[in-house]
Amino acid sequence: MVIESLHNNMNYYLTRRVEFEAAHYYRIPELSDKENHELFGPTSNPNSHGHNYVLQVTVKGDTLASNGMLINIKDLDSIIKEHIVAEYDHKHINLQHPAFIQDSSLQPTSENIAIQVWQSLTPHLQNADLHLVHLYEESALSAEYYGEGQMVYLTKVYEFSASHRLHSITLTDEENKAIFGKCNNPYGHGHNYMLEVTVKGEVDPRTGMVTDIDLLDQVIEKQVFSRFDHKHLNLDTIEFEKVNPTSENFVRVLWEIVEPQLKPVTLHRLRLQETPKSYFDYYGD
Ligand SMILES: [Zn+2]
Ligand SMILES: [Zn+2]
Repeated sequence: MVIESLHNNMNYYLTRRVEFEAAHYYRIPELSDKENHELFGPTSNPNSHGHNYVLQVTVKGDTLASNGMLINIKDLDSIIKEHIVAEYDHKHINLQHPAFIQDSSLQPTSENIAIQVWQSLTPHLQNADLHLVHLYEESALSAEYYGEGQMVYLTKVYEFSASHRLHSITLTDEENKAIFGKCNNPYGHGHNYMLEVTVKGEVDPRTGMVTDIDLLDQVIEKQVFSRFDHKHLNLDTIEFEKVNPTSENFVRVLWEIVEPQLKPVTLHRLRLQETPKSYFDYYGD
C-alpha cells in the first residue's frame, strides 16, 4: 500500500465557484405577519422570494506528492454538488432544506446559509481544509465565513458618482502637473466610485443577521451619498477643501465618517474602487 506523502507543509488555496437558485423568506414563527413585516420588510413575504446564489468555496492545504494537487477539482465538485447544490438548487430553503426545516427559528439569511454550507462540507473534505465560504445573494451583497463560531463578514457594495481634481496645495502648479498629469486638469474629471462596506459580527440568533441592512443603507445614504454623490470633491465638500482627493485620502475620509455611525456594528474594511482597474482597501488604524 502506498501512503501519500505531503510536500513541505505549504498552504495552497483553491477556490471553486458554483451557483444555485433558491427561494426563501425570513419569518419568526411566533410573530404575526405584521410584526414580521416590521422586522424584515419585504423579505418576510410568506409566499417567499428568491435569488441566484453564487457560492465560492475556498479550501487550503498542501499538495499531494503523487499528483501535485491540493484536491482533485472533480472530487471537490462532487462534494459540493452532493452536499450543497442538491440541497439548495431549485428548492425552497425554509421548507425543503433539512437544517432549516429542523429549526424553523433559523433564518435562511446569507450569514446562516454560509455557516450551514461550512458545516455540510467540512466532514467530507480530506487532505484539504475549508478556508472560506463566500456566498453572494446578489452581486452587491455577500457573506463570508471562515469557521469562526458565529462570526460572519458581510459586504454590501454601493455606487456613487463624483468629479475631482488631483492637486496638492503644498506643491507648485508645475509640480502638481508633473506628478498628477491629466488628473490635474484644472476643470476636473470624474468617476463612478464603488464603495464596498464590510462589517463583521456575531450572527444575531433571532434575525440571522450580522447587521440590519436597512440601517447600513441609511448610514451610507445619509453620510456618504448626501456628501459626495454628484459632487465635485474639491469644490463642493469641506472634507477636500484643503486635502487632495486621492483614493487613499478618500477611503480614509469615508472611514472616519462611516465608522462611528455604524457602532455598535464593527466596520471591518472599506474598499474604494475608483476605476475598474484599481481599488484601495482601508482597515482603520
Ligand atoms: Zn432574500
Ligand atoms: Zn480621478
